[in-house]
Amino acid sequence: MGNRIRNPLGGAFAKYRLETTVTDTATITPTMRRIRLVADEPIGFPYTAGQHVRVELNDPRSMSGLLRPGETLRTYTIWEFDPDERAVELRAHLYDGDGIGLRWARTAAPGDRVPIWWPQGDFHTREAPFHLFVGEETASAAFGPMLRALEPSAPVYGVLESESPEHDPPMPGPHRLRRVHRHGAPAVSSPTLLAAVADLDLPAGEGAAYLAGEARTCQRIRDHLVRDRGWDRRSIKVKPFWAVGKRGLH
Ligand SMILES: Cc1cc2nc3c(=O)[nH]c(=O)nc-3n(C[C@H](O)[C@H](O)[C@H](O)COP(=O)(O)OP(=O)(O)OC[C@H]3O[C@@H](n4cnc5c(N)ncnc54)[C@H](O)[C@@H]3O)c2cc1C
Repeated sequence: MGNRIRNPLGGAFAKYRLETTVTDTATITPTMRRIRLVADEPIGFPYTAGQHVRVELNDPRSMSGLLRPGETLRTYTIWEFDPDERAVELRAHLYDGDGIGLRWARTAAPGDRVPIWWPQGDFHTREAPFHLFVGEETASAAFGPMLRALEPSAPVYGVLESESPEHDPPMPGPHRLRRVHRHGAPAVSSPTLLAAVADLDLPAGEGAAYLAGEARTCQRIRDHLVRDRGWDRRSIKVKPFWAVGKRGLH
């Protein structure tokens, strides 16, 4: 089991840190990469689909990490967890920009050593009459495992936005989300995603909504569900994955 250390960024909460090696990478779409990590030691922590790890790209306890704590850890959802193989697989979005996470996601190669901080997050499904998933490429990395965790008979609705059809991240069946495309428009505060959600024919009553991805888009979709469709805020789980001007959300 990993070393128990104090999280210098998160106050008093003890987290677990595991040394891992990149064993495999692959291109999923032109802007999505699969990265498989295998831990040195057995992974003995409870796991719920939708949880994430924080990848330690610079040691937060080092001098440079202490000086620039925002340039140390980056968050990626566990797409697949194989405890027998001590493996976690991630899906990283290769967006058009710059950041330590993006650089790592582009260049990670078999044999690279990288510590991860495990396990974190409460973004997972709950019992509900139906489920609504909304987000873009980054959100797809969380929706995949969350959808797999649902019964095949569970009623599922939702919209997944990407740049264009060739950028559509493959998702596990049998549940299907509607696909929409930005075609060059920014993902920030996305009118494409909002319009597609507004167009959904949802069952009467409230289900459980899971909104992830760009922060302002999440906010707009939540406002739509609350104001236009009368949803209770407590039925909507919002998890901003990234925001303009913010680094390393978690
Ligand atoms: C709980 C959680 C789970 C996540 N799971 C995943 C996952 O499984 N796969 C995944 O790819 N991402 C995931 N993310 C998002 C990922 O952590 C961020 O995209 C990450 O911050 C990128 O790090 P960076 O160093 O490249 O950019 P940062 O330094 O963090 O950000 C710099 C700037 O780049 C821009 N930016 C950052 N990310 C994106 C993006 N994806 N698209 C467009 N612009 C962006 C923003 O303007 C931001 O201000 C998750 C985030 C959270 C909070």
